Amino acid sequence: MGERDFDVAIVGAGFAGMYLLHRLRGLGLSARVIEAGPGVGGTWYWNRYPGARCDVESLQYSYQFDDALQQEWDWSERYATQAEILEYAEHVADRYDLRRDIEFESRVTSAHYDEAESLWTLEADDGGKTVARFCVMATGCLSVPNWPNIEGLESFAGPTYHTALWPDRKIDFTGKRVAVIGTGSSAIQAIPLIAREAARLFVFQRTPNYTIPARNAPLDPDRVKDIKANYGAMRARAKTSLVGIAGDYNLGSALEAAPEDRQAEYERRWLQGGVTFMGAYGDLMLEKDANETAANFVRGKIREVVEDPALAETLCPDNIIGGKRLCVDTDYFATYNRDNVTLIDVKGRPIEAITAGAVRAHGRDFEIDVLIIATGFDAMTGALNNIDIRGRGDACLRERWADGPSSYLGLAMADFPNLFTVTGPGSPSVFTNMIPSIEQHVDWITDCLGYMKARNYTAIEAEGDAEKGWWDHVQEVAAQGLKATTDSWYLGANVAGKPRVFMPYYGGFPAYCQKCEQVAADGYEGFAFA
Ligand code: NAP
Repeated sequence: MGERDFDVAIVGAGFAGMYLLHRLRGLGLSARVIEAGPGVGGTWYWNRYPGARCDVESLQYSYQFDDALQQEWDWSERYATQAEILEYAEHVADRYDLRRDIEFESRVTSAHYDEAESLWTLEADDGGKTVARFCVMATGCLSVPNWPNIEGLESFAGPTYHTALWPDRKIDFTGKRVAVIGTGSSAIQAIPLIAREAARLFVFQRTPNYTIPARNAPLDPDRVKDIKANYGAMRARAKTSLVGIAGDYNLGSALEAAPEDRQAEYERRWLQGGVTFMGAYGDLMLEKDANETAANFVRGKIREVVEDPALAETLCPDNIIGGKRLCVDTDYFATYNRDNVTLIDVKGRPIEAITAGAVRAHGRDFEIDVLIIATGFDAMTGALNNIDIRGRGDACLRERWADGPSSYLGLAMADFPNLFTVTGPGSPSVFTNMIPSIEQHVDWITDCLGYMKARNYTAIEAEGDAEKGWWDHVQEVAAQGLKATTDSWYLGANVAGKPRVFMPYYGGFPAYCQKCEQVAADGYEGFAFA
């Protein structure tokens, strides 16, 4: 080693990798993106299941770094489909001529740091090798599919599809008997559409979920015109919200509101649709009793929609609302009124086995032609732990994180010089609007590299104390709210054997941005340069 191929190696060509490449070119740095898939778009490349859409409104779930781009791109609906988001990603790749610096179908398996040379060497499964001064993991928070540990899963003789690895072709369910395992956001979007096509649909539910109607619709051209005329103002408003989304938030207390006013407020938000339902009151994620008022409202809606009262009860969650990620749906609960749909409650009575032609539960074989696995992701750490990352003194990130991750600002780790993560554990990422969060991280990293370039620094490393201080803060903030009281992928509870550590930063987007800005303004406080 010694010869450097690039200034920066970027792993992943999703929205983070693409924007980073664009910014680095602007800084005059050479960069190579290494991407496992055959195309750009990251999670939006792979999650092609029926009904896949973003639950953040399309006019906000988009880049803002170039006003010309946000002015020229036209979203067709309130919530964009996966296909439209992927088309957007491809448009961005073409518009900024990104593909020439992306190596597709090359999965990075290792990244090792040579301290003497201050260089990273990345190796990929196709034999590719990249040497660069800096390495940025733009590997996504929800990019590694989680497979359930069910006996006989491989023995199923018909087609098996994971929602997060859906084939790039239309799957026809007409006349088929289909099983869906899981009832998270992905399943909740897919189930109503599959039910319309399939002969029979069996849904295996372990934990019922709260979901709010999307009220999706084509975008009104006048509204789009208005937003585009003041796009910057809306983006600025978004930056002041805890979740990085411009919306209608009320900081008042649900417990102090009169019951009839509260009911009216929930009703209004239910009709409005979408995740900002939880913006009804400021204490919903702080006080259990406040949360219960919203949870109860949604349970009431489930009972109104689902005709069979016993079935409605099985679909009613009894945990807090918003503990797991709130879902957004179109016709989810109404789908259970269909004659061809059967819900099988596997809570406390797990699926026993999968055989060549059936899912076995409750001592019975549910015979099927197609198996759909909707069991989510090894979130936040999965993609990083799948790579053998070695820092200074051969420090191994996977071993370092054996009891759970830790990082400084979700951006860097001590003993891993010149390595950055975009929306890593310890960043607000998944609690915010991901694309603007990605832009904030990428801008911070790019500014930092510009700062180093101007001073001829060759290495940067997070200090151990700074990392510990930030990680303690991440845990303290999580402990103040209700989020951490629910088993969810936020704390690794969905993956067998994964350490239970709350991973995202729950202090809100504005506080996080302010901290990042302060760190930079203070000469990158908490980082050491060489
Ligand atoms: P998920 O929320 O983790 O849901 C996985 C589901 O599979 C859960 O219902 C889980 O039950 C169930 N499950 C896991 N193992 C099981 C087993 N052995 N037997 C029965 N059920 C089992 O995954 P996801 O639906 O893919 O969503 C993950 C995240 O991706 C979301 O929270 C969201 O952030 C993002 N996403 C967003 C959108 C959108 O923008 N609209 C759409 C899809 C996904 P338990 O709850 O009991 O573990």
